[in-house]
Amino acid sequence: MIYIHVPFCRSFCTYCDFYSEIASDIRMGLYAEALCREISERSSEITDDIPTLYIGGGTPSVLPLSVLQRILDTLPQQRWTEFTLEANPEDLCEKGLPYLEGLRRLGVDRLSMGIQSFDDGILRWMNRRHNAERAVRAYNLAREAGFRNISIDLIFGISHLTDALWEGTLQKAVSLAPDHISCYQLSVEGESSLAGMVAEGRYREAGEEQCLRQYDRLCQVLSEAGYVHYEISNFALPGREAVHNSAYWHRVPYVGFGPGAHSFDGKKRRWNTSSLSSRSFSEEILTPEDERVETIMLSLRTSRGIGADFLHENCSPRVVESLLDEGSLVRVEDRYRIPENRFFVSDEIIRELI
Ligand code: SF4
Repeated sequence: MIYIHVPFCRSFCTYCDFYSEIASDIRMGLYAEALCREISERSSEITDDIPTLYIGGGTPSVLPLSVLQRILDTLPQQRWTEFTLEANPEDLCEKGLPYLEGLRRLGVDRLSMGIQSFDDGILRWMNRRHNAERAVRAYNLAREAGFRNISIDLIFGISHLTDALWEGTLQKAVSLAPDHISCYQLSVEGESSLAGMVAEGRYREAGEEQCLRQYDRLCQVLSEAGYVHYEISNFALPGREAVHNSAYWHRVPYVGFGPGAHSFDGKKRRWNTSSLSSRSFSEEILTPEDERVETIMLSLRTSRGIGADFLHENCSPRVVESLLDEGSLVRVEDRYRIPENRFFVSDEIIRELI
């Protein structure tokens, strides 16, 4: 599994504090140079257990096809079980069908589109570049170009996102019938503009009740539309679960290239420095305790849950018993999982277990 990080955006979103810089031809050229060197030097770390490629960001769709081609030419393997590229709707509208068809020729078979909302007011507040109409246009163009596997991202839990606005976004999403929907509750991240707005009293976070209501409605609408809720924040039409992301939750090793990218080889985690000019990185060798905690946290995010033997050997029987009694855990054959109606409070349930 390979992850490639593209640290460029055309503008910065209100809620985001990812490492990213404004895209320019010069900086993208430098990036491609350094990235290809890194891939060549670390190619022995690439395994073919699950041959997926995920190009994320930042905004990978700011990269011209020629730069993407150059990156792909440096990778030792070219046949992917799944090849995802994250795309900004406005880029897809501006670059149009030729760009989308070019992506298909490069082998991209899954697009992850950062739509976030179908309400123009909410999109403006987020400082997204697209509006609702352009989001739909980008989606339709991608279908026209032949993409059969499209995921869209949505965000709820914004204090001025009323239930009516949220319903509108959900209904619009379902009417487009994307293969996959990732949906996150807005969170205030350290270095984001939003954190500044909170500190200055210009934004008040949405209450727990509103967030829970919007999450419940999300689960209901998507379930009625035939989506499988296979991870706390992820829904897929049957058979369209993300192969790459699912492997993260099951702690499959992956190698990450590019500034700020993470890697995991089964025993240690590595973080590249978030800088175009630095090639340094940090590493952490996981202790048995780290592995125990990670396994519990990641597995219980999924509807597949965790093996009963593992939970019995690694958690307090008293806590497991009490979570079962209160309905926060259910046993299905030889596995335990958090039921969907408790997904929203899964952090608390997992905290009790670890
Ligand atoms: S959310 Fe995506 S597009 Fe927006 S600033 Fe962050 S990385 Fe860039």
